[in-house]
Amino acid sequence: MKGMLKTMKEKLEKLKKEAFEKINSVDALDVLNDMRVAYLGKKGEITTLLKTLKDASDEERPKLGQYINDTRVEIEKYISDMKDKLTKRMRKEQMAFEEIDVTLPARAPDIGHRHPNSIAYEQIERIFVGMGYEVVDGPEIEYDEYNFGKLNIPENHPAKDEQDTFYINKDIVLRTQTSPVQARVMEKGEFPIRMISPGRVFRSDAVDATHSPCFHQVEGLVVDRGITFADLKGTLKKFATELFGKDIKVKFRPHHFPFTEPSAEMDVSCFKCMGKGCRFCKKSGWIEILGCGMVHPNVFDKCNVDKSRYQGFAFGMGLERIALLKYEIDDMRLLYENDIRFLEQFN
Ligand SMILES: [Zn+2]
Repeated sequence: MKGMLKTMKEKLEKLKKEAFEKINSVDALDVLNDMRVAYLGKKGEITTLLKTLKDASDEERPKLGQYINDTRVEIEKYISDMKDKLTKRMRKEQMAFEEIDVTLPARAPDIGHRHPNSIAYEQIERIFVGMGYEVVDGPEIEYDEYNFGKLNIPENHPAKDEQDTFYINKDIVLRTQTSPVQARVMEKGEFPIRMISPGRVFRSDAVDATHSPCFHQVEGLVVDRGITFADLKGTLKKFATELFGKDIKVKFRPHHFPFTEPSAEMDVSCFKCMGKGCRFCKKSGWIEILGCGMVHPNVFDKCNVDKSRYQGFAFGMGLERIALLKYEIDDMRLLYENDIRFLEQFN
């Protein structure tokens, strides 16, 4: 019966050798676990060998059992050592992966862009400040008297219609223009005046490609002795060439505004086709830019300016219109949607 002991010993040696080789080649914990099941599990090879003990003689059984058990312990230890080795290796790899390379360049944060309105305004402001103008702010919520009355806009004027103006109450409105700032400056009585008043204005308009209930104006006013229409023309021509290019021509068309007399609208020659006529200027060669005129004597009276001593001119333009023209944007709504893909195009 010694033969069985010898056979079992050889079998176990072979099994152990094979197990060690397989375990050595394992490179992942889950594969190692499969190996444990294959050798030591309920249906594993060691367990199967243990089941053969029942066929052994009483004499040999304890010896055989010990052999098998010794092998099981050895394989168990081998698996456990391998598990430690694998865990250590994985931790090392993980740390190498997570290591911070301090020499890498920093990730740059997304930088915002200036809005086309801001860019257009800054250009306009620079031109007028360069000509000695001062920039004056005023309230966006304004007395009806300053928004309309002092600017010679009569009670029955269509602009005063509730359909055009947001009324807070019958005396207070959201300003429909920045001109009330001019009335406030004139009332102070400090001359000469050379000012622009930029800012938000409000009109009861529905939103479409060319209208918005809130938009921006830049208005200007000059009051001094001996101011004539020639000063107005020279100033605004200078402004147009600074803004659109030195070859730009200007044209003044007679118009009507309640607060100026005479009044005009100024067109500039199309800077896209240089006046030849194109889709941009609707084939006319000209683009309307702003309204202007000599300050109306009634406005001087209402703002306590001595019209026998002082003359003046005023002008006003929509900031959005300038931005749309300069950047060839065909829909005003794009300026308010805050779509980063759109805004990124400008700086
Ligand atoms: Zn054109």
